[in-house]
Amino acid sequence: MNPNSTPPEGSSARESTSEAEEVHGVVGGENGAQAGVQRLPLSESELHARQAHPDWEYATTEGPRKRWHDIDVPPADEHGDPDPTWQRNTDAGRMGWERFDYTEESYWRRPKTASAEQVEETPLQAARASIDLRDAVIAQLKLRAEIAEAKAYELDGATNVAIRAIQLMQQAGAERDAAEAAIAEVRSVHRQYRSACDDANDYCAHCNQISGGWIPWPCPTIRALDKQPTV
Ligand SMILES: [Zn+2]
Repeated sequence: MNPNSTPPEGSSARESTSEAEEVHGVVGGENGAQAGVQRLPLSESELHARQAHPDWEYATTEGPRKRWHDIDVPPADEHGDPDPTWQRNTDAGRMGWERFDYTEESYWRRPKTASAEQVEETPLQAARASIDLRDAVIAQLKLRAEIAEAKAYELDGATNVAIRAIQLMQQAGAERDAAEAAIAEVRSVHRQYRSACDDANDYCAHCNQISGGWIPWPCPTIRALDKQPTV
């Protein structure tokens, strides 16, 4: 690398591509910063997220989407029994778990020495293992809470439909009550009355008043109301 070199305006035909990139990468401000970021060492959790921590081994268990009962069962040991040395890899997926179109996956990790050198565990290692176990339990509880929340969210959708149905029924009831009140008001206006004379016929008080004639009871308005189909 030549620190004095500045990239030419147009790259010369003789310059190889890799050389041009290298020079540009060092001199150019943005590319230099990007290269610096890439060189930062990965954190423990980033390594776990990539299932690439050199001191740990990783495993994945899989089941059907939303019908998987063994989501918290760790990978099996050589006898086919759940191996408690596996703990959930809470840095991978969503807190150690991921849901796909047809499947779900649980991600597991354990220190590479867990199975081989458990006997020579120092007090510090024992304390760390205890903390790891506690963290794993907390992570499992968190995961269960998350799954419960997801299920509650789905149930919430059904609840909303039911609430909407009740609202519509209440609205329909209120509209019916309003219509009945309006009809009652119309009936109270179109009252039936009998003349004081020896006329034996009944008349509509309202229709008589507005027409100035003798409109027999029931008047057209009342007849129309009486024709309403009864539900
Ligand atoms: Zn009338």
